Amino acid sequence: ESILYRDYKAFMGFVQDLKVLGVYTNADTPHDTQMAVAFGAEGIGLCRTEHMFFGGDRIMSIRKMILANNTVEREKALAELLPMQRSDFEEIFLALDGRPATIRLLDPPLHEFLPNDHTSRHELALQMGITVEEVAQKSSALHEFNPMLGFRGCRLAIIYPEILRMQVRAIIEAAINVKRKGVEVLPEIMIPLVGNYKEFVFTKNHALEVIEEIFSEQSLKVPYKIGTMIEVPRAAITADEIAKEAEFFSFGTNDLTQLTCGFSRDDAASFLGAYVNDPDKQFYEYDPFATLDVDGVGKLVEMAVKLGRSANPDITLGICGEHGGDPKTIAFCNKIGLDYVSCSPFRVPIARLAAAQAVIEAKKNA
Ligand code: PEP
Ligand code: MG
Repeated sequence: ESILYRDYKAFMGFVQDLKVLGVYTNADTPHDTQMAVAFGAEGIGLCRTEHMFFGGDRIMSIRKMILANNTVEREKALAELLPMQRSDFEEIFLALDGRPATIRLLDPPLHEFLPNDHTSRHELALQMGITVEEVAQKSSALHEFNPMLGFRGCRLAIIYPEILRMQVRAIIEAAINVKRKGVEVLPEIMIPLVGNYKEFVFTKNHALEVIEEIFSEQSLKVPYKIGTMIEVPRAAITADEIAKEAEFFSFGTNDLTQLTCGFSRDDAASFLGAYVNDPDKQFYEYDPFATLDVDGVGKLVEMAVKLGRSANPDITLGICGEHGGDPKTIAFCNKIGLDYVSCSPFRVPIARLAAAQAVIEAKKNA
């Protein structure tokens, strides 16, 4: 351990005592997890599982899963993915060494996994015993004009519950395996893009069924939580209904900003620069994707916090959009009484400082 790191830890000890907000990290690899923990992250606030599907051999299994003609074929492809996902989660739980992990179920539009180039399409066709034309045809059938508003998030889990069931099985089996090694685990299963509490209940019930199945197969149980992202304005507006069913909310302010302001996350650069920087068009003080637009999106978050807590006083509330690592947003999160922020590993030290600073400023202004 270097002197610099020792000094860092000593200084951060004071910070730790001052701050109220928990600081978690957004990580989906054991390496990022270890780094964030070394910076002082208290756990994982967002593990984006879609990132785990891109690596190595597994892309082929997920492509087979997406292009499957029926549930039997899909379940066969999912059975290939299960051991890979299980070992992903085992490694992450080990890296966390007892700290909690919020694992988000698959989110992106399915076409993002499919190949566009001829060589990969050819390889996929060979493996699946179909023609390249069939691969192209099936892929274009999945093409969407507005993928961000399309077949993603919990909508995938609702149409194909077997995907959710595989992921939940992988999470809980991994947790049991790691607990058998003597390491505590705290998995929290997070459902993305919920807009209606019925979507949450539907997906939660599938998850609960799988968990009960596993507990009856194994001699060991693990603690777990099931909660949701709040990233669709309708979810924020109906947060009380959702809170009755959920153990935690994590505000996905990237999507919540996109959907509330109507600014595409991918296409806003053409005008947003002017909105932030041109003196006569400065409608926003900051880039709303970097610093939370507290006068607009922030109001929705605050409303959801109040509604959520009134319906479920025990609910845990956090934020895991990019804003979770931004000091101005962190001050706002402290003010509205969130329990934690979650940000990328390299922003963890700044987030911890900002969380302590927010407490000092709040006391000064009281
Ligand atoms: C979000 O929408 O804020 C979020 C954390 O999820 P993602 O960025 O993966 O959509
Ligand atoms: Mg999102």
